[in-house]
Amino acid sequence: CGIIAVTGRPDAARVLIQGLERLEYRGYDSAGLSVTDGEGGIVRVRVAGKVNELKAAWNSREAGSCGIAHTRWATHGPATEANAHPHTAGRVHVVHNGIIENYRSLREATTKAGATFHSQTDTEVIAWLYAAALEESNDVVDAFQRTVRKLEGAYSLAVMVDGEDDLLLGARRGAPLLAGFDDTAGYLASDPLALAGEAQSLIFLEDGEIAAVRPGRVDITDLTGRAVTRPVQPAQLSP
Ligand code: GLU
Repeated sequence: CGIIAVTGRPDAARVLIQGLERLEYRGYDSAGLSVTDGEGGIVRVRVAGKVNELKAAWNSREAGSCGIAHTRWATHGPATEANAHPHTAGRVHVVHNGIIENYRSLREATTKAGATFHSQTDTEVIAWLYAAALEESNDVVDAFQRTVRKLEGAYSLAVMVDGEDDLLLGARRGAPLLAGFDDTAGYLASDPLALAGEAQSLIFLEDGEIAAVRPGRVDITDLTGRAVTRPVQPAQLSP
């Protein structure tokens, strides 16, 4: 029931866990995060439990500057570690709040194309769709737009791609998502509280919009890639 993502912060894992703690009041049954490991890979930790259990499992390890994190309120599949987000396929890591209504037909199609599912969620199909789109295109943002156009239902998404440490992708329809930035970092979150005291400026996405977030920069488009201008708002200085 909560999303926070960050790029361009040497303390990315700390910012993610702090964000999840601030989102706990919304209720959830599982928690997880994926963070670059500073050595060209991504480390993922998930628990069917509370954020303090995730924090213990994370155990203050060294990490890189880019990551995504999630608290889950299960709708499809029970509250297990395997169903906790982030979900992955190929180079893609995804967190999602909401419900993908057409996940069954998408799952059938991606399975026929060779995907092997590791969870019972409606979310995992997004990772497989995007991984397949990335194989057809070198343009990570365009491939994401093509992926999101296939989704029906309600979603807010934050996505990271292995090898793209300076990029977060977000999308929303029927669930809240905002982007944040300052001179050196970029953020996505489902609730501005998660970014208070971290991001200086916020941009609230509207339904049908996609955010490409880089350190110091946020680009918003519609699902066809057309640029959209949204007001930039000053962030709350303290939580
Ligand atoms: N439908 C997704 C799931 O069951 C996301 C639930 C949520 O909003 O946390 O995993």
